[in-house]
Amino acid sequence: MAEKILFAFDFDHTVIDDNSDLYCKKLAPNGKIPQEIEQTYSDLGWTKYMGLIFEYLHKHGVTEQHFRDCMNEIPLTKGMREVIEYATKNEHESIIISDSNSRFIDYVLTDRGLKGSFSEVYTNPAHFNEDGQLTIAYYHTQDWCDLSTVNLCKGHILQEHIKRRQNDGIHYKCVVFVGDGTNDFCPALRLTENDYICPRVSYRLWKKIQKMGNDPHSTNDKQKMRAQVVDWTSGVDILEFLKSLERC
Ligand SMILES: [Mg+2]
Ligand SMILES: [Zn+2]
Repeated sequence: MAEKILFAFDFDHTVIDDNSDLYCKKLAPNGKIPQEIEQTYSDLGWTKYMGLIFEYLHKHGVTEQHFRDCMNEIPLTKGMREVIEYATKNEHESIIISDSNSRFIDYVLTDRGLKGSFSEVYTNPAHFNEDGQLTIAYYHTQDWCDLSTVNLCKGHILQEHIKRRQNDGIHYKCVVFVGDGTNDFCPALRLTENDYICPRVSYRLWKKIQKMGNDPHSTNDKQKMRAQVVDWTSGVDILEFLKSLERC
């Protein structure tokens, strides 16, 4: 079936309308993480910094249920449920590629009834240890991509997914990548002229793409965007675009 579209979604500020990692900091006493932990971010990177935050929250009595309740407070981004359900209803395939973690994403997808809509969730694996402390590890450790952090090259993950499906005889009609952040730039550059990159208007990915379009020197092939760009402010924009795509 060549008519299948692959939808790849970022999670924070794309599926949900906030950043799950930043949001859970409110569980700290007085909603504040101590300065000595906040300072580790630039040296250790985001994932290890989050590990320290989870350790701190555990010390202050935060349990799995607290995290789960916290994730359930975050609204889905407007219209995004409809986009996800549209993809499922039309027998396309949806995946998530995110720098959050497997527990947070699982709470949201399970508790909002969206879990069955995604064939894969690529993210940093997290689990509760015997003491009930949430621990997090890197999705992978990479040294091949300058655009991505050491723990997560979204472009590589996307390409590997497409290759694996190809080996199973599944060829997508096109890829639609929906995101907002700087780490969505790497997968955006790996899309082909056949594919669509959907950046959230006014967010970092969108600004980066705008800047590229305005830069006459951006002819460097490595940095060239081949995919067609579809801006969005809510899922409604993406739905409209999808319906126009079906008419072609
Ligand atoms: Mg994001
Ligand atoms: Zn990358």
